Amino acid sequence: MLHLKTEAEIELLRSSNQLVSKTLAELARIIKPGITTLDLDNLAEEYIRDNGAVPGFKGYNGFPNTLCTSVNDEVVHGIPSEYTLKEGDIVSIDCGVVLNGFYGDSAFTFAVGEISGEKWRLLDFTRSSLEKGVEQALAGKRIGDISYAVQSHAESGGYTVVRELVGHGLGRRLHEAPEVPNYGRRGRGTKIKQGLVICIEPMINMGTRNVNQMKDGWTIRTADGKPSAHFEYAVAVGPDGPDVLTTFDYIDEVLKRS
Ligand code: MG
Ligand code: MG
Repeated sequence: MLHLKTEAEIELLRSSNQLVSKTLAELARIIKPGITTLDLDNLAEEYIRDNGAVPGFKGYNGFPNTLCTSVNDEVVHGIPSEYTLKEGDIVSIDCGVVLNGFYGDSAFTFAVGEISGEKWRLLDFTRSSLEKGVEQALAGKRIGDISYAVQSHAESGGYTVVRELVGHGLGRRLHEAPEVPNYGRRGRGTKIKQGLVICIEPMINMGTRNVNQMKDGWTIRTADGKPSAHFEYAVAVGPDGPDVLTTFDYIDEVLKRS
């Protein structure tokens, strides 16, 4: 069953996702070689609570922290730790909040210091794959149209798409129907309706699409040890097209200045 949202609910979801956007931008200011992923987690939790919200992932199915921090060949669900970020790393930061009863959920993959050209290309392609998916979030289309757009763009760059993890509906629960895979066929899957709010979140690999789960029960890594990137937006299907509730503008502002 789809939980279609009213305009008022979409505005609440916008507030939640804007707080995630701002939290990620606060992290953008301090992501550099020498900082630990646990430092990032502590800052994020403090910022979220200072803004009257609570971390959305902490305690979710027993997840221990505010952020998922996934470095290099870690795809998603990395647990913040004493790992110190190094020059040349990439780190995916996935952040969730609950504000006024509604979840925000977005992710961005950051460069740590100077990174290789091939890592920049992976980040750019993953982010543009997300944008291609968003363009298909239109009433009357189907989830498969989004999936196909993400997959075909990522694969056109020579990359592979992780299949074991998918996007999802978002609302009073972190994961609602429908599932939003990053691979699929046009014209297939759930019909998209106005008021649907979904997270589109491509996880794109430089090498094989295959992944493994680590013994910590959370961290997903590429099977071949090559890098992976992850970007996520929450998107509402509006009367005039896709309404992206997240923004990377705050992050882009910070990164331009630094
Ligand atoms: Mg997320
Ligand atoms: Mg998500």
